Amino acid sequence: MPAAKKAVSTPSAAQTRAAEDYLEQIHNLIQQKGYARVVDIAANLGISQASVTAMIQKLDAEGYLVYERYRGVALTDQGRAVGQAIAHRHDVLSRLLTSFGIDPETVHRDVEGMEHHMSRQTLQVLTLILEELEGNAVLLKKLKRKMRA
Ligand code: ZN
Repeated sequence: MPAAKKAVSTPSAAQTRAAEDYLEQIHNLIQQKGYARVVDIAANLGISQASVTAMIQKLDAEGYLVYERYRGVALTDQGRAVGQAIAHRHDVLSRLLTSFGIDPETVHRDVEGMEHHMSRQTLQVLTLILEELEGNAVLLKKLKRKMRA
């Protein structure tokens, strides 16, 4: 077997998991408060403001957002698309796991990892299962009983 091919170019900041987390947080903050400030992004991600500013400047340079020192962060269409997609995966995964009674801490930890590694097709499968379960209390109850067994 030949060795796995290495990527020739380094990924842009927005292709990394960390960048996806930033765009997700910024998207959520804008949804909740109408704006996203560095101080809030830092608090939500548990990262220093200096690190946040460095990543924000990188994402600005790559066209994912616009950063103005005194006005905070605004997402471009491209940045919004990434932030929305991750937030949507987060929501589907959280609802699915929570419906089985998994504790919030475990759900949060697992979802934060899984949301970055999912194809469109897998998301679609999980969304269909979620919708089915949310409309079928009997099936959900049956599955939960099997979990405990
Ligand atoms: Zn998330």
